Amino acid sequence: MYAARRFSGAPVKVTVIDRRNFHLFQPLLYQVATGGLSPGDIAAPIRTTLRRQKNAEVLLGTVTDLKPDAKLVVVDNTREIAYDSLIVATGATHSYFGRPEWEKFAPGLKTLEDATEIRRRLLFAFEAAEREASPELRREWLTFVIVGGGPTGVELAGAIGEVANQTLRDEFRHINPEESRIILLDASPRILSTYPEELSAQAVNQLIGLNVRTRTGLRVTNIDERGVTYLNNGDEEHIAARSVFWAAGVQASPMGKLLYDRTGAKLDRAGRVVVQPNLSIEGFPEIFVIGDLAAVVSEGKPVPGVAPAAMQMGRFAADEIRRRVQGQAEPGTFRYMDKGSLAVIGRAHAVADFGSVRLSGLIAWLAWLFIHLMYLVGFQNRILVFVQWAFHYFTFSRGARIIVGPGALP
Ligand SMILES: Cc1cc2nc3c(=O)[nH]c(=O)nc-3n(C[C@H](O)[C@H](O)[C@H](O)COP(=O)(O)OP(=O)(O)OC[C@H]3O[C@@H](n4cnc5c(N)ncnc54)[C@H](O)[C@@H]3O)c2cc1C
Repeated sequence: MYAARRFSGAPVKVTVIDRRNFHLFQPLLYQVATGGLSPGDIAAPIRTTLRRQKNAEVLLGTVTDLKPDAKLVVVDNTREIAYDSLIVATGATHSYFGRPEWEKFAPGLKTLEDATEIRRRLLFAFEAAEREASPELRREWLTFVIVGGGPTGVELAGAIGEVANQTLRDEFRHINPEESRIILLDASPRILSTYPEELSAQAVNQLIGLNVRTRTGLRVTNIDERGVTYLNNGDEEHIAARSVFWAAGVQASPMGKLLYDRTGAKLDRAGRVVVQPNLSIEGFPEIFVIGDLAAVVSEGKPVPGVAPAAMQMGRFAADEIRRRVQGQAEPGTFRYMDKGSLAVIGRAHAVADFGSVRLSGLIAWLAWLFIHLMYLVGFQNRILVFVQWAFHYFTFSRGARIIVGPGALP
């Protein structure tokens, strides 16, 4: 989106191809997964976003192949589209570390469908516990395990803590949702391992306030319909749980492998495409790879798979192409500007690392709130989300607590 918009007013024709008709604001997916927001609040139709940009058109379709020598993109196995320059930004997907069978028992959070599936499992677990006579099974239904203590796992765990301890209070007659066990597991010695140690420790304390227990230094060895097994200092342990959510691993979208097959581009261990300093593929100066799909090094450091990096790369790649169109052939060098990291841990709690400035608690949460509203695409979405957040803040409610989806009811 940022690359396409950067071409506004340029003497070029832009075609945006996406298999979805909307742009998704992934940082707020966990709020859809926990009933705080509805899917439409965090998605904006791509057509609407580009409606005023007359040199841009939008094509709904899945890119199934590339023919770099003929400069063609194949859409839905049938239609070929010619290009002079190509920007590939197909993002990333989950990685189950070679155990794809775990996905069925522990869905991850990447798409709107993932979010509504997690919401279904989360809300259904409380309903099932309410109907369950056996205390042992009730405990299994009220145990929630989140695997992966990065920002997504922390945000999801904190929001589940809020649902159990605040939102559902007084709503059930046979169970007490506050007795839920919410466990955040991570293989590293600490959660939020890319943040400074003091902020990790503060995040653990803020999670304790929401009844979330963090367990670190554990290696998950199995996940099935009855829970999670892991190694703790060499000993095998098991948590009996009916709801397990995956926030542990990320790998490049399959487009990385396709680019490798068609151009010989190098891939890193996560399947991301290793690019030149100007984000193009070696030997194919007209193909740029950006965002989560690209393995980029800026000033000696790997660029993280976060939204600001993707946005900056989008603008940079568009500028490279614009300069070429103007006849300036010298390639530039992409430099990532790190604006800091934020992770939210429920109502009025967050941690923020802005380099020399480190914040936690309410002030970090206010910074998080402001930044996320600012970047949410679409004016209408911003207003809707702001009003809902304000309402939830004062009432502790969550308005989108609906169970939908295949197999919604037992
Ligand atoms: C749950 C979650 C929370 C996050 N929170 C934060 C956060 O708080 N802060 C932050 O900075 N970053 C966050 N991120 C990361 C951030 O969302 C990504 O870094 C960013 O979206 C990457 O942008 P991208 O354009 O590379 O890929 P994406 O945003 O994933 O876009 C890829 C697009 O390609 C399309 N596509 C894929 N394959 C094809 C195909 N074959 N044909 C056609 N279209 C295709 C997809 O439909 C999609 O629209 C989060 C990510 C997740 C999943």
